Amino acid sequence: MFKDAKLDEKTFTNIIKLLSERYGIQTPAHLDRSDPFKVLIGTILSHRTRDEMTDLAFSRLFSKYKNAEEIAKASLSDIMRLIKPVGFYRQKAKRVKEVAKLILERYGGQVPRNRETLIELPGVGYKTADIVLSIAYGEPIVAVDTHVETVSKRLGIVRWNAKYEETRKGIESITPPYMRRIVNGILVRFGKEICKKPRPKCELCPITIYCEWYARRRNRNSQKI
Ligand code: SF4
Repeated sequence: MFKDAKLDEKTFTNIIKLLSERYGIQTPAHLDRSDPFKVLIGTILSHRTRDEMTDLAFSRLFSKYKNAEEIAKASLSDIMRLIKPVGFYRQKAKRVKEVAKLILERYGGQVPRNRETLIELPGVGYKTADIVLSIAYGEPIVAVDTHVETVSKRLGIVRWNAKYEETRKGIESITPPYMRRIVNGILVRFGKEICKKPRPKCELCPITIYCEWYARRRNRNSQKI
C-alpha cells in the first residue's frame, strides 16, 4: 500500500463498486472512447466548463470537422463559432487548432499513446494525458481531476497537500488495475452530486463509514458541549 493510504484495496474496491451501482460507468458524450483524438479535444474543451456545454460544443465541432486533418485546416473563426458554448472558447479554439496541427504533422494524425509525449502538446497536462490514456487507450491509470482529488483527500487516501502525481499513485496503489480507468468517471459524478466543494452533502453520502473527513468532523462535534 502507498505510505499515506489509509484505505486498503479491498475497501476502496467496495467503495467504487457501490458508487458504480449508483452512477453507472458511462462517460459523457465529449469523451468518445472510440477515437483518441476526440477524447483529447473533448478534454481540452471541458476545462472549467459544465458537461452539457462541452457536449454541445463537441458535437457542433465534430459534426463539421471529422479529424485532426480537417480541424488543422479549418479557420480559427469557424472553430470559435462552433465551440462558443464552452468557457474560454477563444483560447480553446486556438489550442484545438494548434493541437490538431501538431498531431497531424508530428504523429501522422495519431494521438500518441505515451504520457510524456502527450504532455508536450500545448495545454495538455497530466490530467488530460491520463484521461486520453485511460479512456481512449484503456490504460490502467486513474486520471485525477478536481473532484477525484477532493474525494480522495477527504477519504484519507492521500495527504491534503499531495500534488497530482502523489495523488494519482496513492489512488492507484489501492485500485486493482482492471478498475482504474473507471474511477475518474465515478468519482467525478460523486463529487458533483454529493462530495461537493466547498461543502459536501455528508447527510446523503453512502460511504460515510469509510471517510476520514466525516469521522474527524463527528469527533469534533462530539467534543462540543
Ligand atoms: S462523508 Fe462527506 S466528505 Fe466523506 S466522502 Fe461522503 S460526502 Fe465526502
